[in-house]
Amino acid sequence: MSESNSTSENASFEQIGEVLHKHQSFVLISHVRPDGDAIGSQLALGFSLIAAGKSVRLINEDGLPDNLAFMAGAKKIELPPTEPLDVEVAIALDTATKPRLGDNALHAASKAKIWLNIDHHVSNPKYGDLNLIDSTSPATGQILYQLLTALNLPFPDETRDAIYVAVSTDTGSFQYPSTTAKTYEMAADLVRRGLDVGTINSSTYDNHPYRRVELMRALLNTLELSPDGLVANWELRDETRLDLALLPEDSEGLIDIIRAIRGVLLAVFFEELVDGKIRVSMRSKDRRINVSDIALEFGGGGHALAAGIRMKGPLDEAKPLVLAAIRRRIAEIGI
Ligand code: 5GP
Ligand code: MN
Repeated sequence: MSESNSTSENASFEQIGEVLHKHQSFVLISHVRPDGDAIGSQLALGFSLIAAGKSVRLINEDGLPDNLAFMAGAKKIELPPTEPLDVEVAIALDTATKPRLGDNALHAASKAKIWLNIDHHVSNPKYGDLNLIDSTSPATGQILYQLLTALNLPFPDETRDAIYVAVSTDTGSFQYPSTTAKTYEMAADLVRRGLDVGTINSSTYDNHPYRRVELMRALLNTLELSPDGLVANWELRDETRLDLALLPEDSEGLIDIIRAIRGVLLAVFFEELVDGKIRVSMRSKDRRINVSDIALEFGGGGHALAAGIRMKGPLDEAKPLVLAAIRRRIAEIGI
């Protein structure tokens, strides 16, 4: 089916279940620079399908990040093969737009006859043949929990643990306002199913390479606060990345440090990428400032309180453009 056939309606769990049941071979893909929800969603659904006897490949444009290598079954995550895979169904997980799956991953999945799109980004244009988009869900992992339990699909330990990591990392450890009673009920059920809370949290959060703390020191040296105290930002330049031999995942979550400053409503992280582009990460603490809307002005996207952009460099040109857009938004709201 072509993308023009996609409807604005969500598929039901039963419709998704029928596709999973009827077909034998699947490729599951998540977004470039994958985070815990991306990899967690792949492992959660992937290991359920494997337990159901299906043939499953899990690919990611950038492969498995080092910080998620502790996850059970993580070795199943592969870089995209150069030849297209012989699979019937491709499933995009946690990926707001199709291009964010990456060129190589899209090529590897190009023989798939059916595309499923399961995600929680409000900006997702429903690019699948069947779509399951729930922007009220704090993580794609929670949508998958609901899908798998509703359909009575296999729920092996890898799936249980992966769902926990997906939701924990996308909610800032069950803290963000998107965390609901459903989320805690789900977590309780995962613990009842045998999840080892202490071990999994320690592997997720107390397991950083030393260079990540050195990165924190370097970032603090670039910290800026706007005169009214509403906007905090810091930046990571090529020089620091090379000096500290950083990996892309080393900066994951560090923005929460400046987001946590009292009085700050908006935290911004600017980063020079290897390809010369600039990555902008934004966090809002105020529902009136929708950072997804600000990101959209520059071709990015995300959620109301957490969004990102990849834009043209150099940093010294990109930064004032984004900060000006933020100031316009603050002025419009009249804060
Ligand atoms: P982060 O700041 O953690 O990289 O991303 C925050 C949120 O914004 C995530 O949900 C992520 O998917 C989304 N996001 C980050 N960068 C981009 C981007 O370049 N384009 C789009 N569409 N979404 C992004
Ligand atoms: Mn997510």
